[in-house]
Amino acid sequence: MTALLELDGVTAHYGHVQALFGVSLSVAEGEVVALMGRNGMGKTTTIRTVCRMLPHTAGRIAFAGADLARTPSHKAARMGLGLVPEGRRCFPNLTVTENLTAAARPGPWDMDRVTALFPRLAERRGQKAATLSGGEQQMLAIGRALMTNPRLMLLDEATEGLAPVVRQEIWAALRQLKGGALSILLVDKSMKELAAVADRAVILERGADVWTGATGALTPDLTERYLGV
Ligand code: ATP
Repeated sequence: MTALLELDGVTAHYGHVQALFGVSLSVAEGEVVALMGRNGMGKTTTIRTVCRMLPHTAGRIAFAGADLARTPSHKAARMGLGLVPEGRRCFPNLTVTENLTAAARPGPWDMDRVTALFPRLAERRGQKAATLSGGEQQMLAIGRALMTNPRLMLLDEATEGLAPVVRQEIWAALRQLKGGALSILLVDKSMKELAAVADRAVILERGADVWTGATGALTPDLTERYLGV
């Protein structure tokens, strides 16, 4: 499999504080990769460097063969780098339908397919985003990312802080996305669900990748050592 996203020795800083100390990982076409690690190990920072909310200070990030440091954000988005924004940001005063159509780019994902994936969004079509529950806002945020027809979707805190029933709906949707053309790099704290949906895991410790392998190879010993569970 050819890598769609490839990080090679990526470092990043918040001011003078170094947060990433050489992260190398790859996500292949159609692959779902879970970024794991205890609190503060650099998962969010890694996602931020890929979507260029934080510039990397060394190393290389390549997406679809292009060096992301030399690719303007709008071009990266057109190339298929999709992000589900932190905080599930949508346009609060626009309806569900308006939020989805505003994000639309040509491709297999359209309103019908997104609302079939998330039937709750279909039920709330005319409702303003601001009045949706946290879980529905996350569905809308994922739906908006899908409407851009990305090749790679970055998803941080996929289900955190959401009601259990809604979390299950989101995991079910992510499982449905698996096996298609879409690649996903995702972060979450629910180890069990994460391991069930991801093909491969990359574990970060103190800002560096320390283990990578198939999620099926995550032994209790490894999860205890690196994830404290
Ligand atoms: P969590 O699971 O708690 O979200 P994480 O693995 O996503 O953790 P990051 O948020 O990437 O970890 O944090 C990595 C390191 O960078 C931590 O030491 C953290 O304190 C630091 N850090 C994160 N954001 C900032 C910031 N805005 N300014 C300064 N340091 C930061």
